[in-house]
Amino acid sequence: MKRAFTKDQTWLQCMDCGYRADLLNERFFRCPKCQGLYDIHHDLNPPLKALARVYELERPDLTYKRVFDFRAGKGTSWSGPVLSSGVWRFKELIMPYLPEKHIISLQEGNVPIVRAGKYLRQWVGDSIDLYIILEGQSPTGSFKDFGGTVMMSIAKAAGIEAVCCASTGDTSAMAAAYAAAANIRCAVLLPKGKVTPAQLVQPLIYGARVITLPGDFDDCMRVMQHLVTNYRIYPANSLNPSRIEGHQVTVFLIAQNFEWELPDWIAVPVGNGSNCSSVGKGLRLMSQVGFKVKTKILGCQSQAANPLALSWKNAISIQEWQNAYKSIKVGETTATAARIGNPVSCKKVMREITLSNGEMQTASEKDLNEAVAICGRDGYFVCPQTGIALAGVKNAVRDGQIQKNERVVVVSTATGLKFTDSASNNLKKEIISAPSCKTETVLNLIMHT
Ligand SMILES: [Zn+2]
Repeated sequence: MKRAFTKDQTWLQCMDCGYRADLLNERFFRCPKCQGLYDIHHDLNPPLKALARVYELERPDLTYKRVFDFRAGKGTSWSGPVLSSGVWRFKELIMPYLPEKHIISLQEGNVPIVRAGKYLRQWVGDSIDLYIILEGQSPTGSFKDFGGTVMMSIAKAAGIEAVCCASTGDTSAMAAAYAAAANIRCAVLLPKGKVTPAQLVQPLIYGARVITLPGDFDDCMRVMQHLVTNYRIYPANSLNPSRIEGHQVTVFLIAQNFEWELPDWIAVPVGNGSNCSSVGKGLRLMSQVGFKVKTKILGCQSQAANPLALSWKNAISIQEWQNAYKSIKVGETTATAARIGNPVSCKKVMREITLSNGEMQTASEKDLNEAVAICGRDGYFVCPQTGIALAGVKNAVRDGQIQKNERVVVVSTATGLKFTDSASNNLKKEIISAPSCKTETVLNLIMHT
């Protein structure tokens, strides 16, 4: 098969020792020299020069603005992904050399960025300018689709026949949906008897092989790692840095929404760390191509799973943070998708928070659940992980980290419809049980309770 792009156009590079590897041939996604994580790099200049010639603009930021603004809102059912997908609109910044015919898209990325409603503004503190990017309004209901479309496109371009992941939540849904679109075999490993019907149904409906193992989630992860290392099964989990490339569009979408003025803060929940890594990389990329970037990242963790917030201190250096960091044993939390004691991407989180002069916050269980309920009062049903970020913003306002009038965008990672168990447990006390079926009784309850 003819290569989709060369090793000099797009490549993998170890974030610790700089070792370079071939994205299309890589199957392990760990540096063979030092076990470090990979970043993806591109030679951005030739595609930019081609665009600049068309638009006759000298400055790269103006060229990108012109191209991306032209494409926004142009998509129809029969236009290609560069016009119809809110991820591939930014193709020149995320995967510039991939031929369009290799792209596997479900028209992801066109998500709303809404101003916080009245109740949420009051709860957080009315002095800030607060917005939410609702990434749960994606094909599979979570932010993973932003990265999934890029990951599966690369898998297809690399001639992959089967992908695998061990995830009980959003990753398995994303992997299964995009594998279906790519016509690639997908397997999802789950611990038998330990997942909810909601976690099973998405990979099943998308036609993945759902394999349950007689063990716990860690056993699934161990088998998954062996499959990757020894049998060259392609990993769909967050070790795969193609996902980060797509997920950077969180930053580009936010910038475009505010006419290319980046906000003062972007607040993200931190579980395995892919949100924080992607937002940070996207901000650095925008700065590199000439945009004015002042945005700080607020990383937020729940009290039950806060290894990064625990080891963080104001004005800490990356090295000091790495020395202070320890994985932890996690406690119980409704924010199960971020219930991670040793995040895979923890070094990338430390890099991005530090480089953006950002901060870390910890959200209490009470606050994160309250945040979800309050968003509902404004008409938005968000997941408990979004609740972590919202509660983190509230704490950062209280602690004076976020200042008056600053603009803050919270990344809402998934729809609350994936987490109905926790929301209904918290809210079922609100259900009014009528003592009879009489119309007057019901009327009285409607008007006076
Ligand atoms: Zn290395």
